[in-house]
Amino acid sequence: MNANIDSGIELPLMESFFTIQGEGFYSGTPAYFLRIGGCDVGCYWCDVKDSWDPKIHPLISIDEIVNRVCYENHSNTVVVTGGEPLMWDMYTLTNLLHNKKYLVHLETSGSHKITGVWDWICLSPKKNEPPLKTIYSEVNELKIIVRNSDDFRWAETHRKFVSKKCVLYLQPEWSVRDKIMPKIVDYVLKNNGWKISLQTHKYLNIP
Ligand code: SF4
Repeated sequence: MNANIDSGIELPLMESFFTIQGEGFYSGTPAYFLRIGGCDVGCYWCDVKDSWDPKIHPLISIDEIVNRVCYENHSNTVVVTGGEPLMWDMYTLTNLLHNKKYLVHLETSGSHKITGVWDWICLSPKKNEPPLKTIYSEVNELKIIVRNSDDFRWAETHRKFVSKKCVLYLQPEWSVRDKIMPKIVDYVLKNNGWKISLQTHKYLNIP
């Protein structure tokens, strides 16, 4: 796009808000969310398709983003999500947030080289653009979105690559949740190590 975005001095920011993490390991925990614009993965069931085109989101300087976090965040955690944040260089953002003593979490498909320094990485692999092999050793949480029975095979494929300490989640894709949930329950009961993640923020109708 331009030199400032390539070097991570500005980022296309789709939205930022203080809320409660709705899913995964930190479900129920207050956190400030930065939703970065731009995603080239193209999941057809994506619930944030507006994030895909980075050009429709304002380029905001990292200094301004961090000022906004300091002003609006009432927790110690910042979650960087997308879109696909790793399309951009994340070092400047994570360094400045760490200087302000925030814990910085990443939500990623892993389809781009990892940049930035993270306190927690949630990897959610997508079939359109599978993760790069280099990310698996860094991952704290593996979250597989389950739409159909083949996604259990997909889940086991990625489980082989993450560390033993990595927390493993199966999460129903929202639009088919009622249909797929019984299969997820059955799978978790029969296969050690997996847990269920629900998008509780959607049930609670919060961002
Ligand atoms: S990786 Fe995430 S943001 Fe990108 S298309 Fe898939 S679900 Fe949407």
